[in-house]
Amino acid sequence: MYSCTHCADMEGSLTARDRVGIQDFVLLDAYTSETAFMDNLRKRFNENLIYTYIGTLLVSVNPYKELGIYTKKQMDIYMGVNFFELPPHIFALADNVYRTMISETNNHFILISGESGAGKTEASKKVLQFYAVCCPSTRLLDNVRDRLLLSNPVLEAFGNAKTLKNDNSSQFGKYMDIQFDHQGAAVGGHILSYLLEKSRVVHQNHGERNFHIFYQLVEGGEDELLRWLGLERNCQKYRYLIQGECAKVSSINDKSDWKTVQKALTIIEFSEKDIEHLFAIIASVLHLGNVHFEASAHGYATLNSSAELLGIPSNILQEGLTHRKIEAKAEEVLSPFTAEHAKYARDALAKAIYGRTFTWLVNKINESLVNKDSTRKTVIGLLDIYGFEVFDVNSFEQFCINFCNEKLQQLFIQLTLKSEQEEYEMEGIEWEPVPYFNNKIICDLVEEKHRGIISILDEECLRPGEATDFTFLEKLEEKMCGHPHFVTHKLADQKTRKTLERGDFRLLHYAGEVTYSVVGFIDKNNDLLYRNIKEVRGFATVCILSWPDITEKIIDINSKIVCYCLRSCDSLRTVATQFKSSLAGLTEILMTKDPWYVRCLKPNHCKQPDRFDDVMVRHQVKYLGLMEHLRVRRAGFAYRRRYEIFLKRYKALCPDTWPHWKGTPAEGVQRLIKHLGYKPDEYKMGRTKIFIRHPRTLFATEDAFEI
Ligand code: ATP
Ligand code: MG
Repeated sequence: MYSCTHCADMEGSLTARDRVGIQDFVLLDAYTSETAFMDNLRKRFNENLIYTYIGTLLVSVNPYKELGIYTKKQMDIYMGVNFFELPPHIFALADNVYRTMISETNNHFILISGESGAGKTEASKKVLQFYAVCCPSTRLLDNVRDRLLLSNPVLEAFGNAKTLKNDNSSQFGKYMDIQFDHQGAAVGGHILSYLLEKSRVVHQNHGERNFHIFYQLVEGGEDELLRWLGLERNCQKYRYLIQGECAKVSSINDKSDWKTVQKALTIIEFSEKDIEHLFAIIASVLHLGNVHFEASAHGYATLNSSAELLGIPSNILQEGLTHRKIEAKAEEVLSPFTAEHAKYARDALAKAIYGRTFTWLVNKINESLVNKDSTRKTVIGLLDIYGFEVFDVNSFEQFCINFCNEKLQQLFIQLTLKSEQEEYEMEGIEWEPVPYFNNKIICDLVEEKHRGIISILDEECLRPGEATDFTFLEKLEEKMCGHPHFVTHKLADQKTRKTLERGDFRLLHYAGEVTYSVVGFIDKNNDLLYRNIKEVRGFATVCILSWPDITEKIIDINSKIVCYCLRSCDSLRTVATQFKSSLAGLTEILMTKDPWYVRCLKPNHCKQPDRFDDVMVRHQVKYLGLMEHLRVRRAGFAYRRRYEIFLKRYKALCPDTWPHWKGTPAEGVQRLIKHLGYKPDEYKMGRTKIFIRHPRTLFATEDAFEI
């Protein structure tokens, strides 16, 4: 009889195991206890073992220090080796996904989730690097590989910023498809971005920065370039850069990052003109931020620099930012804005310009990643998307992000928990159902047509001049009253025993309660540009701005133009509705692929190595649903194979089944595993498949070939 070399925890003897914990939570004796789970996680973290499995799900704890575990040598070690033969690693997961894709010629995705600073973006970069190094390549394909890799620093420069939680916080959600040909070489890619947090362009909280690219340009831009852009090499000179009072960050080297981005832009084949326009726009935003408006009717500072860089005649830009046009008796009359309106117009323009530039950038990168060869490809998708957010004050942005997390949790339930349990039922496998909370009710509360929160918000957005954040809240309270996951201040005491301020509503999310302040909901959902600003932009000669973007909407203050726009043109949808439909699109993309999960945990609030804050980690373990996942995994079976396939693969291991088995495949499998010595608790026979409780049993069977 064979012996199983992979059964033992690869990290060694019992004493070592006591010290370093167990590498798969499924193997924990007290597997249902959260305390045992936490003990194991903490033990491993203290030994710098940041990865642990729950079956094939990878749990990762941010070490906040370099561990030296991502070298080429490590990649070689993990390449082509079975999942459980080596200590858990992101490379093991990447390798397994890749090999499954090749052998089964199907599509996969890796969902990387966790809160801000937990290590999602780092994990997704490690996966990409692994494929870049380990997949077969040719000179031609090297191009694609370099572009895939270099799209990261570019998108991070324009889409990431220093926040209180993370010095390199992604301010957009990202889904990236990597396409492979039948030989397993990376031949193309495609990126989708979600909900860039544009408000950062004009406002940053204390301790936070604007997007990295602004600082990179000012700090790293060549003298000649800065002169051309009319910029000084001093971030303190720009209002949009100093509100957070932390233009310099010790962990960030803006100068060298600038060089990296420059190089990346060239390799991704942005033309000189594109690059010129790109930085003209970035500089014009900085100049715009410095424009002041005085209370007097005609007060404004010069905005020549911005106008010049955007290619807009300066008088037209000035007029656009300070006046509105009124059409009276076939005549156009200009009426001055208040200083307040002018500031609003300026900030709206800055945000719109930046948002459009980001979309253009993603588009450009996608053009360079297009694979022109039409042969069939398989795909691995990488999803790096914001985790659940709870701040002291939660606004529209948190509402959208948390809705996104509800949708991803729903997908997880459908693809993992529900489908797993349904399969056992279908196969007639005896099975104690694992209770789990199905969050569909919360998804519906937010997105249901005509009745969900987003619909109610959109309705209010169609009444400019009449609707306010508070009329929106009133409608919510009226329509959602009684919903088990919605709490108004009237009901707060009964449902959660915590009172609510006026102007707040609370949602009971799957991951916990979040109180939202309605202030700004209408404005942010509308994301409007004043009508004349939009016209002004039509004058721009910079190609990025004349590039069509159907998502922008306009408003003529005091008129109802926005109503007509929204009603007559479906593409002019509100931010929440656009987001909702892009999430529906994402769900559709993911539903057709096999899921893999990386759950990232943040060990402490202070971004420090070697500190494991129990309360904080326990909270994340709860809302990432890790215990639920573990219960299903533990109660369930790691592998399942149709009888025919199992028999075909292993029949050579048993003289009764080799070379031909004449009975039914199920009987053949029964004979085979009896010969192999499977114990009764290691497997179950379903209607069409054999279910194997633990992967080690299968690995041992694989090994038997070699004996
Ligand atoms: P956000 O949601 O804000 O974008 P995130 O989950 O993407 O957060 P990352 O930017 O990936 O977080 O990680 C934050 C920081 O933590 C990194 O800049 C890096 O310093 C550190 N870090 C993350 N993962 C690792 C790792 N595996 N090894 C070493 N350091 C890490
Ligand atoms: Mg990130």
